[in-house]
Amino acid sequence: MNTIITKFGGSSLADANQFKKVKDIICANESRKYVVPSAPGKRNSKDSKITDLLYLCHAHVNAGISLDDVFNHIRERYVGIVHDLKLNFNIEEHLSIIKKDLEDGASSDYAASRGEYLNSLILSNYLGFEFVDAKDVIVFNNDGSLDSNATHCALRETLSSIPRAVIPGFYGADKEGNIVTFSRGGSDVTGALVTASLNADLYENWTDVSGFLMADPRIINNPKPISTITYTELRELSYMGASVLHEDAIFPVREVGIPINIKNTNRPEDKGTFIVEDLLKSDLQTITGIAGKKDFTVISIAKALMNSELGFCRKLLSILEQHNVSFENMPSGIDTVCLVISDSQLKNKKESIIDEIKRSCNPDSIVVHPNMALITTVGKGMTKQKGVAAKIFTALSKADINIRMIDQGSSEINILVGIENDNFEKAIHAIYDAFN
Ligand code: ADP
Ligand code: ASP
Ligand code: MG
Repeated sequence: MNTIITKFGGSSLADANQFKKVKDIICANESRKYVVPSAPGKRNSKDSKITDLLYLCHAHVNAGISLDDVFNHIRERYVGIVHDLKLNFNIEEHLSIIKKDLEDGASSDYAASRGEYLNSLILSNYLGFEFVDAKDVIVFNNDGSLDSNATHCALRETLSSIPRAVIPGFYGADKEGNIVTFSRGGSDVTGALVTASLNADLYENWTDVSGFLMADPRIINNPKPISTITYTELRELSYMGASVLHEDAIFPVREVGIPINIKNTNRPEDKGTFIVEDLLKSDLQTITGIAGKKDFTVISIAKALMNSELGFCRKLLSILEQHNVSFENMPSGIDTVCLVISDSQLKNKKESIIDEIKRSCNPDSIVVHPNMALITTVGKGMTKQKGVAAKIFTALSKADINIRMIDQGSSEINILVGIENDNFEKAIHAIYDAFN
């Protein structure tokens, strides 16, 4: 029999009604043996995510404020789910332990992880599957990075004797037993690790949309669905803000060639999106999708004969390294180079970086453009097509949008443009309309 790993996102498990849908999905196919849940997400646009509330509890304790009010919201959510599912399960006992741990100063990672922990306890009880704590199978190094080898061994060893299990997403533990989380949205990564370790046949990622769409549905009304997409295209889109799947969830499954299927918990009959290594020529689309992110700064450096000055870029990048800043992009010309850096990376370091560039690199000019957004247009089919870039630039020009920066990735499957933050939504519309 095949083995399918299923990961359910926060909105898929936001209340008891959603839990029922999840059970129906799992019962509909015996191959769905291992389940990775997220913490309960929003039930409507005004609601809170449990993970956000847990971070808030931690912040309250740190600030010396009582966490009672926030924790009561969390308690109500979980007690409500257990009650509505009519489970004979003592959730209060677990909630009390967690509250005490938080009050005693538990870490922020521990606080955040409890959302997945509690949801998994409830789901394992509801499904009658064994609960396997992620702290015993997802192994981090003491510097916070994942120990992939130890994780694969632990997952294989533990799950080989358990036919069906629920494993919480988002966290694991380091060698000292401290809880460590992935970055936000990280339950996708846990699902991918379980899939790869067990060499499963398929990784189903269940969410609240019927697969990957050509653009963010919060910006474009009813964007076209994508039926099949390659890992490479998806990585470009996820990295640039198409948040359906965590960008780090792609590597583990790609390495072993297991397809991912993004599916909708609320419309399980929809086929969703398949993510695969390669597409048939006939399935290649010129443009597969569009995604983007706001809040970047471009530092544009000009110096005559820069191209022949040995070590210029090395000096520049070592300044970023000294400041512990990574760059997003570095388009260059003969006498110019631009550093595109996200504002979150640059926080409180901009002046010092610019001073150091002036001192070490002695440029003719250095100009800083803040408030930039980046938009990537991705498609494997564009390598064989003429005029794709022209179409994007014409669309932006017709929409009266000034392009501040252009870069075509070396893999030639994406074209990146830098524009003002204020033009972000307008630019996504213009590019989407040009190809549809
Ligand atoms: P989950 O909680 O199930 O992990 P996420 O919120 O992480 O779900 O991801 C799903 C959401 O991603 C969708 O509800 C949608 O708003 C957003 N999204 C952004 N870009 C896209 C896109 N290109 N296609 C589909 N959804 C997208
Ligand atoms: N609950 C975590 C978050 O909100 C992880 C996840 O949902 O994947 O980021
Ligand atoms: Mg997610």
